[in-house]
Amino acid sequence: LAMNYRGPYRVRADRNRPDPEILHPRDAIVRVTRSCICGSDLHLYHGLVPDTRVGMTFGHEFTGVVVELGSEVTNLHVGDHVLVPFNIACGTCPFCQQELYGNCHESNPEATAVGGIFGYSHTAGGYDGGQAEYVRVPYADIGPTVIPPGMDLDDAALLTDVTPTGYQAAEMGGIQKGDTVVVFGAGPIGLMAARCSWLFGAGRVIIIDHIDYRLEFAKQYAQCEAYNFVKDMDDPVVFIKKTTDFFGADVCIDAVGCEASGSALQTITGRKLMLQAGSATALQWAINSVKKGGIVSIVGVYGPTWNLVPIGNVVNKGITIRANQASVKRLLPRLIEHVMAGRLNPKGLITHRVPLEEVADAYHIFSAKRDNCIKPMLIPNQ
Ligand code: NAD
Ligand code: ZN
Ligand code: ZN
Repeated sequence: LAMNYRGPYRVRADRNRPDPEILHPRDAIVRVTRSCICGSDLHLYHGLVPDTRVGMTFGHEFTGVVVELGSEVTNLHVGDHVLVPFNIACGTCPFCQQELYGNCHESNPEATAVGGIFGYSHTAGGYDGGQAEYVRVPYADIGPTVIPPGMDLDDAALLTDVTPTGYQAAEMGGIQKGDTVVVFGAGPIGLMAARCSWLFGAGRVIIIDHIDYRLEFAKQYAQCEAYNFVKDMDDPVVFIKKTTDFFGADVCIDAVGCEASGSALQTITGRKLMLQAGSATALQWAINSVKKGGIVSIVGVYGPTWNLVPIGNVVNKGITIRANQASVKRLLPRLIEHVMAGRLNPKGLITHRVPLEEVADAYHIFSAKRDNCIKPMLIPNQ
């Protein structure tokens, strides 16, 4: 049983897909125990990522039990319960050696930017993902990490992407003690970024979205201020300027990416224009509301090339832009500590637990932001 992509806004549970097999001595086969749906999967689901082929299985946020190992994987054992970073990384190329595991050269040699990612189109290597009963894990000697004893499985699943991505968003922001940090997007990634901003010493954290239930959730979960860019009075750039004595935010984080369903412009533009104009909005706001010399940290994913960046403001304000796919393996040791010590609460983001058979409903609810959904988790093999 595996999730199967049929085209934009259409996915289904496929009972006939053959189970994966070891193809390389560094592979493992993992029986999946938890598998989340990510905002990144929504970009695929919305048809915004090039070369997303019908028949693919998505899923890059999973835990599971090792059931088979290739001959060259000596650090894992059959029966180990592992969490698997979303980056597929070889461990030895020049980028992996710099701990840029999200930019591995070997796992996606045809691409010049991103490394391999589970279930993330052929632009990310064409690997099938973990929204399935079984998944093939390449370079299994590098990525999979045995779940520490006593760790909650739901927390472990959210250490494969959401926690490291939120943390890296805050880290790339270069937050100094007392800084005002503005996070665009109150999805799982923005919520985790807001929460992590405190760990880096932020003095004030403001999250911006247009979905009320998510903003309410954010106030509790991340103890931050919340601003609704549709309902509240001002345009978010004006609001941020006013609330910072017209200096602007010290750090802005884009946790939105090429959003197809959430933008304010959606209602006033046609579908085609929406995908262009709406998608750049959060990033434009971030650039326009950060202070002179400030930092814009981008973890939102942009499938195709978007070219509506207000580059003049970047130059004239002397803004630093930092961006990347999160490097999960680099961050895991410290994040495991934070989670075990209770300083981060990843599983608190999970609002929906759904059997893999109901994957189509789960995508629909998450995409439409219905039923107060923050983060849906699929449970295979029930
Ligand atoms: P999500 O869909 O749950 O959340 C996105 C939120 O952004 C929604 O609540 C939406 O209402 C809000 N939004 C839409 N337009 C906005 C705007 N103009 N201003 C402010 N908010 C706006 O998704 P998520 O799971 O939180 O993921 C967020 C982004 O992070 C996605 O682009 C995803 O692809 C990306 N991501 C990146 C990495 C990485 O390693 N860089 C990893 C995981 C996810
Ligand atoms: Zn993800
Ligand atoms: Zn590599």
